[in-house]
Amino acid sequence: MRTRIPALLASAGVTVTLFAATAGTAQAASAQLVGCGSAGKVTAKMCKLYKAASSASIKGHYHWDSQGCKHKDRLPYHPEGRACDLVYGKIGKTATGDNRADGYKMVKWLVNHHGAYSIDHIIWQGIIYSPNGNWKGHKDKTCKKGSGVTVCHRDHVHVAVRK
Ligand SMILES: [Zn+2]
Repeated sequence: MRTRIPALLASAGVTVTLFAATAGTAQAASAQLVGCGSAGKVTAKMCKLYKAASSASIKGHYHWDSQGCKHKDRLPYHPEGRACDLVYGKIGKTATGDNRADGYKMVKWLVNHHGAYSIDHIIWQGIIYSPNGNWKGHKDKTCKKGSGVTVCHRDHVHVAVRK
C-alpha cells in the first residue's frame, strides 16, 4: 500500500508537493522540543514527567546518578526526545545494592504514575512495564542470554512517554 500511493502521486505530478509537506512535518516535530534542565531537549510531556520524577526521587532518596534523553537509537523514542535513561550507578555496570533498590523504587513510582504522565513503557532489569500485561511487567525479548548490561537495562531505568 505504501509504495502504491507515491507512485500514484508521481504519475499525477504532485511529487514536489508531497516532499514539501514531509519536510514541513519534520520541522514541526523538532520544534516541539523544549529545554528541560539536566534532561536537555525533550518533548513537553517528557519534560513534565522528568521534573516530577526528579522531585519525587529526590524526596524519597532514590534519585539517579546520571541521565540521557534525546540521542540516536534504533527505536524512535530517544531520537524524538520522548524517552530518558535514568542511570543507577555507572553506565555499563549492573546496578547492585542501593543502586538496584533505588532503581526499583523509581520504577514503582513511574508505574504508579503512568496515567498522569502519559507513560508509554518502562524497562528495568530485563522487564518491560507497559499496558501489555497491565503494567505488571513482562520479559523484554530483546534481552537475551549474552546481551550486554545496557541492552538489558541492568544499569539504567528507561522510560518513554506517548506522543
Ligand atoms: Zn532508553
